[in-house]
Amino acid sequence: KANNIGWNFDNSYARLPNSFYSHLQLNRVHAPKLAILNEAVAKSLGLDYSALQQEDGIEVLAGNEIPKGALPLAQAYAGHQFGHFNMLGDGRALLLGEQITPSGERYDIGLKGSGRTPYSRGGDGRAALGPMLREYIISEAMFALGIPTSRSLAVVTTGETVLRETELPGAILTRVASSHLRVGTFQYAAQWGSDEELQKLADYAIQRHFPMIEQTENRYLSLLQEVMERQAALIAKWQLVGFIHGVMNTDNMTISGETIDYGPCAFMDRYNPATVFSSIDRQGRYAYGNQPPIGGWNITRFAETLLPLIHDDPEDAVALAQQVIEQYPQLYYTNWLAGMRAKLGLFNEEQQDAALIDELLTLMEKHEADYTNTFRSLTFQRCEGTALFDSMEFKKWYEQWQARRQRQEPSKAQSQQLMRDTNPAVIPRNHRVEEALEAAVTRGDYRVMDKLLQVLSQPYAHLAEQEAYATLPAPSDCPYQTFC
Ligand code: AMP
Ligand code: MG
Ligand code: MG
Repeated sequence: KANNIGWNFDNSYARLPNSFYSHLQLNRVHAPKLAILNEAVAKSLGLDYSALQQEDGIEVLAGNEIPKGALPLAQAYAGHQFGHFNMLGDGRALLLGEQITPSGERYDIGLKGSGRTPYSRGGDGRAALGPMLREYIISEAMFALGIPTSRSLAVVTTGETVLRETELPGAILTRVASSHLRVGTFQYAAQWGSDEELQKLADYAIQRHFPMIEQTENRYLSLLQEVMERQAALIAKWQLVGFIHGVMNTDNMTISGETIDYGPCAFMDRYNPATVFSSIDRQGRYAYGNQPPIGGWNITRFAETLLPLIHDDPEDAVALAQQVIEQYPQLYYTNWLAGMRAKLGLFNEEQQDAALIDELLTLMEKHEADYTNTFRSLTFQRCEGTALFDSMEFKKWYEQWQARRQRQEPSKAQSQQLMRDTNPAVIPRNHRVEEALEAAVTRGDYRVMDKLLQVLSQPYAHLAEQEAYATLPAPSDCPYQTFC
């Protein structure tokens, strides 16, 4: 049954020692209905878009039916949540298996909101429609922005309600990721597994994500290096578009270097490194400006888990790991600086570029300039009408920047093209996301969301129809807050 859809599962994760997961029975939901289905993702997975919309397709997306070859399980993991170490695991998610695509790629297919598991603790294992649609919108926007991310295949409503502060419609998101291996998966193995289990996990991660390091002299040290490089590159990309993840706990940091777990995340509007949206992040641990160092903190936790594999002598292991992770700050900064140069239309490198960029950011913060729109205005040389642009200090900065752009081989037109390709016209603005969710959740009207998704799908196209999505919300006294 359901095989006309194109499911083609393997279950390599289930071949790890059984301490890494728990098999799951399906929790049937009452009356599943398709809320949204992603045609591009379906096609890239080798799935039949129209068959997925039929009853057989929806039953799978709702977790009511196991497609042939799937082996539902919940993954075990641990993690530092806001700095505190806990045993966690998939409490409301289910891994169906790994879809092998027609081009031979392997993607985890997971259901989020699919019911209780042995790792649910006090939770109900369920998810509400609003947050699942929100993850769908933001993850797809991130993909279009060119940022490594899990993707969203579908959201179905369950026909059941979930109890939060009020009763909300229940939903299940189908999430697609290169894998769901996390720093927290390694922390789980290091804390409660044998060295043999830890090694099996590390070898599995290498085989799945970094086969090119299999033959290196110390492959576990290479694994640390690779994961660090991917995380440094990822977080630099977040910073460059003003994305704030919101819960950079070690269980939410992937080995693949993809962004996962879209909870209280949001995009910054006014440039301010202290920006926090999450209602639970009272100390600002995961504020915009803290994301790069938190990435380093998380990588250090990852390094700790690998020590027994890196060297038999604990002191040597620490010394070797140290040599790798101390590169992180510079590695992050190099990624970020290269990205910032591109945002300013600079191809070559000059010593003073860092100061030029810092000066701009300082002025943006001082004049409360919108992050995305400032770079967009610079791209199109429409620098007027804001406190920043009208200031004398900005005019002085602008002259310096123009002079700097002259000091490179490529033409002004090439420089502008680089800026167009690097500075998005649109990001998922908080008020636009809320507007789309409001229409979908309370009125069942998905047109607002469809339009938003369409606009967000080409952030570097700079189309006229995107203009309306670049405007800021009316100033409000109450700052935007996100809840997970
Ligand atoms: P997160 O903050 O989304 O990374 O979630 C942290 C942990 O809480 C993970 O182990 C989740 O599986 C679990 N969790 C979150 N929401 C629920 C829920 N409604 N029921 C059970 N477990 C949950
Ligand atoms: Mg999580
Ligand atoms: Mg979450």
